Amino acid sequence: MKGSIKIDKELCKECHLCINVCPQGHIIPTKEYNAQGYHPVGTNNEKECTGCALCATICPDIAIEVYRE
Ligand code: SF4
Ligand code: SF4
Repeated sequence: MKGSIKIDKELCKECHLCINVCPQGHIIPTKEYNAQGYHPVGTNNEKECTGCALCATICPDIAIEVYRE
């Protein structure tokens, strides 16, 4: 299965639970800042998302939407 995610960077609080749970390594830290002063996570396009939705399930701030193809 192929998937993709959309991260709402303004909702992200940099807890990195999603990075730790993603079996594909698709989510990575960034150095950018959001309005709250956190570094929101981003995606690594060299590692494919499968649409498993573990990241969206674990995110306490509902910052991730998952799409499946
Ligand atoms: S949906 Fe699954 S594979 Fe895709 S980024 Fe989230 S945890 Fe990783
Ligand atoms: S789990 Fe949610 S709040 Fe935590 S780093 Fe990931 S996107 Fe940000």
